[in-house]
Amino acid sequence: MNDRQGCIRASADRGMAAATFEEMTICSLVLSAMLVGACAIDSVEITEVRGPGVYVLAAGDIVRLDNVELAVPEHGEGVRIALDSEDGWQQITLTHDELGVHVEREAFGETQATTTTHAVIADPCADNAYNTYHHKWQDTYGWYASKTNYDLAVDFGIVETLMKHAASNITDAHNDCGRADRVSATHSYRGRTTSTPTISTLDGAIRCSRDHKSVVGFKSLQGYKAATCWYWNASGVLVEADIAFDRGTKWVMSGSIPDDCTDAVHFESVATHEFGHAFGLLHPGTSHPSLTMQPGAACDKSKRTLGLGDMLGLESLY
Ligand SMILES: [Zn+2]
Repeated sequence: MNDRQGCIRASADRGMAAATFEEMTICSLVLSAMLVGACAIDSVEITEVRGPGVYVLAAGDIVRLDNVELAVPEHGEGVRIALDSEDGWQQITLTHDELGVHVEREAFGETQATTTTHAVIADPCADNAYNTYHHKWQDTYGWYASKTNYDLAVDFGIVETLMKHAASNITDAHNDCGRADRVSATHSYRGRTTSTPTISTLDGAIRCSRDHKSVVGFKSLQGYKAATCWYWNASGVLVEADIAFDRGTKWVMSGSIPDDCTDAVHFESVATHEFGHAFGLLHPGTSHPSLTMQPGAACDKSKRTLGLGDMLGLESLY
């Protein structure tokens, strides 16, 4: 065990106030009497929590839940991470209000069994499901591309173009349903940067941290294909969104899928999904396989065009 792991475990052993939101009122009474163990490594305090709930923590502390670490935002602000793979996803959210720091988690696939059966709608133009938390960009979403960690044979200029296409797929409501673009959201590509997405892998955990610059690039993501971290201020306005693609994944960097594709992942499709997160869309649930906002399978290029629910979600925000 290294010092950092010892630190995490010591914090966890001190006992956390965990509560469902139904228990929140009771919890808030209890919380004032509970102290969370302080444990600093490199001036960062890490607290491992056992599950969703409300915790007493300070802005800047790091919360670890399973394999994800998020920095506690300032009062009124929030942060969310979406982690996507071919067969599962999870979303973890931190919000900070007068009751404390709320930790929420939703997962589907390899991390959580699904017991509820829903009717599956196969036609993307007929599935109207979407999920948002009303967080949105007030102005244009300005983002940079990072070539750091990119080591595939395909020229990065092509990747950069696919990234721009993906962002425009969201803002232009690109679809095969014949639906007009009713989405007012805009994005602005600011060029390449030497910065990287502030989505890091450290001691087996994926951590989001803010640097006030929205960067799209490549990182090692421990089995996930892509991740997006996005942040909002006390007014619910999005202020940063970073997107990381897994550098170890076999990506298809073209519009079409090769005939012999078995396990490669269509970059523009995944990128469109991730930019959907960056504009405030969440996963719609577990039974919407044709919608862009439900992660797709290998060799699937269909997610680069939006389904009805994807567009309704964007229209509800923009
Ligand atoms: Zn996702």
